[in-house]
Amino acid sequence: MSRVYNFSAGPAMLPEPVLARIRADIPDWQNTGMSVMEVSHRSKEFVAVAEKAEADVRQLLQIPDGYSVLFPQGGATLQFAMVPLNLSEAGSPVDYLNTGSWSEKAIAEARKFCAVNVVANAADSNYSRIPAVADWQLDPNAAYVHYTPNETIGGVEFHFVPEVGNVPLVADMSSTILSRPVDVGRFGVIYAGAQKNIGPAGICLVIVRDDLLGRARQGVPSLLDWSVYAKSDSMVNTPPTFAWYVAGLVFEYLLEQGGLAVMAERNERKAKLLYEAIDQSAFYSCPVAPDCRSWMNVPFVLSVPELDKVFLEESLAAGLTNLKGHRSVGGMRASIYNAMSEKGVLALISFMQEFERRRG
Ligand SMILES: *Cc1c(COP(=O)(O)O)cnc(C)c1O
Repeated sequence: MSRVYNFSAGPAMLPEPVLARIRADIPDWQNTGMSVMEVSHRSKEFVAVAEKAEADVRQLLQIPDGYSVLFPQGGATLQFAMVPLNLSEAGSPVDYLNTGSWSEKAIAEARKFCAVNVVANAADSNYSRIPAVADWQLDPNAAYVHYTPNETIGGVEFHFVPEVGNVPLVADMSSTILSRPVDVGRFGVIYAGAQKNIGPAGICLVIVRDDLLGRARQGVPSLLDWSVYAKSDSMVNTPPTFAWYVAGLVFEYLLEQGGLAVMAERNERKAKLLYEAIDQSAFYSCPVAPDCRSWMNVPFVLSVPELDKVFLEESLAAGLTNLKGHRSVGGMRASIYNAMSEKGVLALISFMQEFERRRG
């Protein structure tokens, strides 16, 4: 297998042992004479996969009793609508923190259904920092508080869980889930699209505190009602079986690695190596304030933006792919999720240093 180091923000790298397992499984999965893509989602074999995936993710995240785990389709973006539709009355007040592009998208969708109060807005710092907690304008009557713990595009990450009193806290963890332990009990709802740290695109993980189920607005379609998923073990209709199976393999792999405390150590070390290399150089810089730099998505710019194109061409030739920053920010971005090894990060750092020596 000739593999590159893929720094894509999503769909992102999968662990190699998971890919090897998929390859071995495909022709004749569990002696069924079929691949997992060809079996009924209601077969005992597939139901076992679905149940094990849920049990494993519960163990990984130490999800307390009293929470349901759902696997809907539609990615994180559908949750931008499902959150207000399941937690608020039409036009009622809801709180949102705006820390970047994904917060903005969540806010724009919520405005279709609710009166959105933007509690704090990082737009004026060009999304380079989290606004001081003392300045947040939380509304104690809000139906919920929504935030984005890791802004995948801007590379801004909360290294703390916001304190919001009794109002349910809702988090879009798409690009940080499974990167470290989380105190799930502090949250009303956690959701995450799969294609960053969970598995292939096409499935979403939603963790909901049970008292928040059954509040969907009248007339909401079944597929937009969390409680319908909770009652049917996320088999309301045919689920994305292949994506679910692969997510299960990733959960198994993470447990075998020692769980999320081990992932946290590795991820923190990888990020530290890369930020140190950027900070020590006069040629590269990171626009994000040091106290909220993401462990998962590391944006950086070259001091000579005219060299962006050559940097991308030469890095690609060196087997380092997808380093181009998001079109809304420019520069570079290295996404270093769980599946990116420290070796991959070190390969990027040596390439950057060598590029600087030659071109800087
Ligand atoms: C990728 C991403 C999304 C969008 O996910 P989809 O699955 O494409 O809908 C939303 N929020 C965050 C933080 C993301 O990283």
